Amino acid sequence: REQTFSILKPDATRRNITGEVNAVIEKAGLRIVAQKRILMSRKEAETFYGVHKERPFFGELVEFMTSGPVVVQVLEGENAIATYREVMGATNPANAAEGTIRKLFAESVGENTAHGSDSAENAKIEIAQFFSGNEIV
Ligand code: ATP
Ligand code: MG
Repeated sequence: REQTFSILKPDATRRNITGEVNAVIEKAGLRIVAQKRILMSRKEAETFYGVHKERPFFGELVEFMTSGPVVVQVLEGENAIATYREVMGATNPANAAEGTIRKLFAESVGENTAHGSDSAENAKIEIAQFFSGNEIV
């Protein structure tokens, strides 16, 4: 079974809707096989979103991701990476399909509730950044 890495972002913890988001994840057939609530350090956020460091929104993105607790998760299921990208919906909630996490919950393109890995290679790297093997059950 494939695994993907997920973050419920600070806008989700701030509004106390992580359970509602998890319900959407589970209804889509994905299993939460690891989960913890953490405060990301600036360094962790900069590393995590390193591919975007030249983008104009990078500073804002790091500020946001460190502005409150996040819930980091490993999700498992058939085609988990593609399935979760579909369940999250488009990056900008204005373009997200009905029933997706970002359509249901996201406030803006910056504060868009969830992250999901975009490739098998990145899923491995991202899972390893936040979890050790024995935390994934
Ligand atoms: P994520 O990587 O968080 O799963 P994504 O893959 O849909 O989202 P990316 O293009 O990788 O989108 O952008 C990473 C994150 O940067 C987005 O989720 C969003 O929070 C933020 N972001 C992207 N574009 C903008 C923008 N134009 N303005 C502000 N923030 C943005
Ligand atoms: Mg991305």
